[in-house]
Amino acid sequence: MTPQNAQGQAPGVERDVVRAVASVNDPEYPDVSIVDLGLLERVTVTGSVATIGLIPTFSGCPALQMIADDVRNAVEAVPGIERCEVEWLSAPAWSTDRISSSAARRLADDYTVVVRRSDGELTCPVCGGHAVVDQSMAGPTRCRSVAWCPDCRNPIEVMRVDGDTGAWTSVEVRVGRSDETRQGLEMAR
Ligand SMILES: [Zn+2]
Repeated sequence: MTPQNAQGQAPGVERDVVRAVASVNDPEYPDVSIVDLGLLERVTVTGSVATIGLIPTFSGCPALQMIADDVRNAVEAVPGIERCEVEWLSAPAWSTDRISSSAARRLADDYTVVVRRSDGELTCPVCGGHAVVDQSMAGPTRCRSVAWCPDCRNPIEVMRVDGDTGAWTSVEVRVGRSDETRQGLEMAR
């Protein structure tokens, strides 16, 4: 007979559940675990039901549903778990400080995606320069914006954080000589 703890599950199940969550990679960065990206906030196992509390990196990110499905499938494959529920928590807020240093290095090396530190500094993943300039909040995906490194002249992608508008503000931009205006982005002065 397997010994059980107070919640009625075999010891080690919780650890296996965490391991299953860690096996899920971010769809945008297929070799970076969502645990290394700091998405996992809590794991609760009650009997054969696991509840996984995740915090979104950027709540507009369309990959969230895919991540939840992957977590559910991975955890429900753990022996002793019959059902997994995934909750997206609104607090604490995700910040780039939650990304492990090895994951940050992999993002820089494999994807030339840089993580904005909480003090706002950006380090170029190509040359290590610190003069990276925000260029556009419209990146290749909604979760990334585009910056530019004047040192090595490479475009750099920046992982977005909720509320992160970089140094940009939304303004009306006059196009050409017409009176037509469009919504655009302009560097804040
Ligand atoms: Zn550079």
